[in-house]
Amino acid sequence: MSAYKILLLPGDGIGPEISAEAEKVIDFLGRAGVASFEIERGLVGGAAYDVHGVAISEGDMALAQAADAVLLAAVGGPKWDGVPYDVRPEAGLLRLRKDLGLFANLRPAICYPALADASSLKRELVDGLDIMIVRELTGGVYFGEPKEITDLGDGQKRAVDTQVYETYEIERIGRVAFELARKRRNKVTSSEKANVMKSGYLWREVVTALHKREYADVQLEHMLADALAMQLVRWPKQFDVVVTDNLFGDMLSDEAAMLTGSLGMLPSASLGAADANGKRKAMYEPCHGSAPDIAGKGVANPIAMIGSLGMAMRYSFDNPKAADAIDAAISGVLGKGLRTADIKGDAPASISTREMGDAIVAEL
Ligand code: ATP
Ligand code: MG
Repeated sequence: MSAYKILLLPGDGIGPEISAEAEKVIDFLGRAGVASFEIERGLVGGAAYDVHGVAISEGDMALAQAADAVLLAAVGGPKWDGVPYDVRPEAGLLRLRKDLGLFANLRPAICYPALADASSLKRELVDGLDIMIVRELTGGVYFGEPKEITDLGDGQKRAVDTQVYETYEIERIGRVAFELARKRRNKVTSSEKANVMKSGYLWREVVTALHKREYADVQLEHMLADALAMQLVRWPKQFDVVVTDNLFGDMLSDEAAMLTGSLGMLPSASLGAADANGKRKAMYEPCHGSAPDIAGKGVANPIAMIGSLGMAMRYSFDNPKAADAIDAAISGVLGKGLRTADIKGDAPASISTREMGDAIVAEL
């Protein structure tokens, strides 16, 4: 059995604490003979700036390129507020996404039954919720040219952002969504504003053609992005896989995240194009940030980080069984009433980051 190469980038704030817990799970999976892993460690964000003066070094970029998966915890914090723009902590993240070509951002919104009361919606609307939002990550209005502010004189300025999508960009993200749906509940909701935007019109046309050509077995529906925003809070369980552009995906995935009740629980995956062997560059990270307010206290919730490792098992290491086991272990410890402080609610007491990691390993 050849070893999978993981580049671990603990980063800043609570990053190192939650990374340590994910590493326990990796060690356990290795010892249990599930797969064999080779872990490399690197620096990103403020941690890299302090040592190398940049947000990620060329050496660590090379390790990221060579790895089967990058596991990143979190970057940033007030300590680096004043550093030059190009080497700010977040620049490390953007460099990784750009250089690895990670165009598909997968954000599951899963509501664990034990936490359904923490949702912003009524329990019956979210209990058992399991949506996958697929957001296009490297195109659209965040990157399109022209992008500028022009001084018109007389105190007037004009700002321009440009939404650009080409057929190949829509096709490759659509393909990711259809493939995911086949392994889930076989339904894709594609979202844009085809009624008022040319890019939305092309999006719908390309997704429709791709569906007809290659994925007719999957149920496809189109929903305007504003309608989808409404349906998400009205009846979220109607959705399986949602695929949308960079801007709408940014907003809709945050909206979906709140349905599950807690930031400290949500993992994410960012995937690149498949090569001839079906291998993709990939990076896995929690949706939350570095939480400087609780860093170093040993109270951070490691579940989003461990869940991100679970996504790596599913999408990079070809081991859906291990991924399911990790999800079941998370669900199991929550079912037993174990809670870190952020999800404590009415529970009598909370446990530490380490205790949560240990409990998940024990459950596994
Ligand atoms: P970023 O800009 O990096 O996304 P942010 O400003 O959105 O960061 P976070 O760092 O995600 O903020 O933290 C938001 C709040 O959620 C903070 O109060 C933080 O302590 C809490 N939080 C975030 N992640 C966790 C976690 N894993 N466990 C416990 N609390 C968390
Ligand atoms: Mg944030």
